[in-house]
Amino acid sequence: MELWFSEEQATNIRFSFKVKEQIYSKQSDFQKIDIFDTDVLGRVFTLDGVIMTTEKDEFIYHEMISHVPLNVNPNIEKVLIIGGGDGGTVRELTKHKNIKKIDMVEIDEEVVIAAKKYLTFTSEKLDDPRVKLYFQDGIQFVKESKEIYDLIIVDSTDPIGPGEGLFSTEFYNDCYSILSDDGILVNQSESPYYLKDARELVRATSKLKNIFPIAKVYQYHLPTYGSGHWLFGFASKKYDPIRDFKNIKYDFTTKYYNLDIHLAAFALPTYVQKMIDESKIVWDNYKLNI
Ligand code: SAM
Repeated sequence: MELWFSEEQATNIRFSFKVKEQIYSKQSDFQKIDIFDTDVLGRVFTLDGVIMTTEKDEFIYHEMISHVPLNVNPNIEKVLIIGGGDGGTVRELTKHKNIKKIDMVEIDEEVVIAAKKYLTFTSEKLDDPRVKLYFQDGIQFVKESKEIYDLIIVDSTDPIGPGEGLFSTEFYNDCYSILSDDGILVNQSESPYYLKDARELVRATSKLKNIFPIAKVYQYHLPTYGSGHWLFGFASKKYDPIRDFKNIKYDFTTKYYNLDIHLAAFALPTYVQKMIDESKIVWDNYKLNI
């Protein structure tokens, strides 16, 4: 008997993969955590039935969320990650010797426990001496933090459930307050393709544009996320991601990020740039309402 997993990535749109074995499943206080073994994607980690990380393409997400800001301000020393439970963002950040401190605030300790056991390809650096884990709500953490960070990475779930507040104006203002004078915020910014994701993209980006002097988005392709066309927000108090690009030749290897991709990632399709500039849904294909 064949076992398949399906995620509804948009109204009437599903993404499915064949499962070799379900190796973990647990309902935590916050969400349902599942991990599967598959032929094509390797290990796949989902939360509440939504794909978070796959062994085959997680490097794309984690390299792009980490190395872009660090190639704009190579003097970044103190980083705060909100979310990031699988550890992939930490793994990429620890490749940078200039980073002295990484605080990771993950609301659900059960995610880290599962990642340490079953997702060693992403969680392998969570025990780096520079890393400190906090198991609490990132919203509260930034509101109460007395620490000042050079970089905040919001490596969150979608704006539903515990992740919803990580897309609010209040949260972004609190992040702004604990960023240094040349601080940078990078956030998971959804996607321009399906209407529900495009709405969140426009909402998040228009909020950041009202708070930060520089607020852009950059793209990467991630085949296992809805439509494969996904974006990160780049909000900055001082540095522009293109003008201040440092073109650093790293002493470590990457499989997706490179100096050309850094520049190209900010060259957006016309309909996406228009949505960002006008802070509204502009693509007439959305009249299909999906
Ligand atoms: N890095 C993964 C990837 O490759 O796409 C996905 C992101 S990570 C799994 C998202 C994490 O955000 C989850 O572990 C979830 O528990 C966490 N999270 C959601 N809401 C949160 C909140 N309010 N504070 C802290 N962590 C939160």
